[in-house]
Amino acid sequence: MSIDIRLPPPESASGQAVIKEFSDPSPMTPVQPVQLGPDDTFQFSCHKGIACFNKCCQNIDIMLAPYDVLRLKKRLGISSRDFIDNFTRDFQMDGHGMPGLKLATKDESPACVFLRPEGCGVYADRPSACRYYALGLLSMRKKDSPTDEDSYFVVKEDHCLGHQEPKTQTVRDYRKEQGLEDYDAINREWRQIVLKKRSSGPTIGKPSERSMELFYLASYNLDGFRDFISTAGFAELFELDPAEKETLLANDEALLRFAFRFLKQALFGEITIPVRADAAAKRHERYRQRVEQMEREGAERKSMDQDAQYESLKHEGQDDE
Ligand code: SF4
Ligand code: SF4
Repeated sequence: MSIDIRLPPPESASGQAVIKEFSDPSPMTPVQPVQLGPDDTFQFSCHKGIACFNKCCQNIDIMLAPYDVLRLKKRLGISSRDFIDNFTRDFQMDGHGMPGLKLATKDESPACVFLRPEGCGVYADRPSACRYYALGLLSMRKKDSPTDEDSYFVVKEDHCLGHQEPKTQTVRDYRKEQGLEDYDAINREWRQIVLKKRSSGPTIGKPSERSMELFYLASYNLDGFRDFISTAGFAELFELDPAEKETLLANDEALLRFAFRFLKQALFGEITIPVRADAAAKRHERYRQRVEQMEREGAERKSMDQDAQYESLKHEGQDDE
């Protein structure tokens, strides 16, 4: 199973401006060329007794989206940081170094780290890419349109016998059965941020290291992001209603949606979190004080060095006598 988000250029070959998002297989995967809408049908069924059971999880390349990370770390009862460290690997989503996460494989094979002889060890919380398989998602948004249009395609890999099963269903029913509506509702907003960030790359240049760190924190390390919004520095800069803050600290889904708002504000200047009017002046004052202190410390160090040099010259002079 090889599923990824592909990031095409912001302009199509025909010059029509579009933003696309893909959840599709690698170029080696036989993707069926027919695009399906929500009410189109396709033939496929996956179930425990099937002869190919688990084959799709034995050689994986699966990209994770923020809601995937949240569901899995909650299931395992560990922090986002521990989940990232133990069950994912980093990769770059594009040439600008936009950070992405992929699901880890076992030490000794390309099989998914959660694969068990009896099947998926995290089935109820498996990532959206696993839920979609054997469908792929293609989302397209015209440049000035506020909404995406989704279409789907079937992925037929030789080892997957599910396509020979006699079950036919609509895409809509399949998505519902796989629990994809919840996942897409949250992850879609994030994919739009990824695409917008990438498509703005050539116009505004390489993203700063700081913006990439914020992207990583808000996208994947939700517990770290919770700590971040609890800091004095955050409160000094942003005016967050105390009741809203309490909700965010207690509700992971609400916090993740807020993290996306924060990212849009930090990356694209879309202001939805009120900024304190005096924040810039305070930051400037703090910066000025820090520079002054560094200059003071530098002057003290220089004076101590000069004293030490003088003492050593004095001793050398005494030794010569
Ligand atoms: S998370 Fe589960 S379904 Fe997805 S690749 Fe791993 S074992 Fe398979
Ligand atoms: S039918 Fe396809 S998706 Fe299901 S277990 Fe077999 S290879 Fe995996």
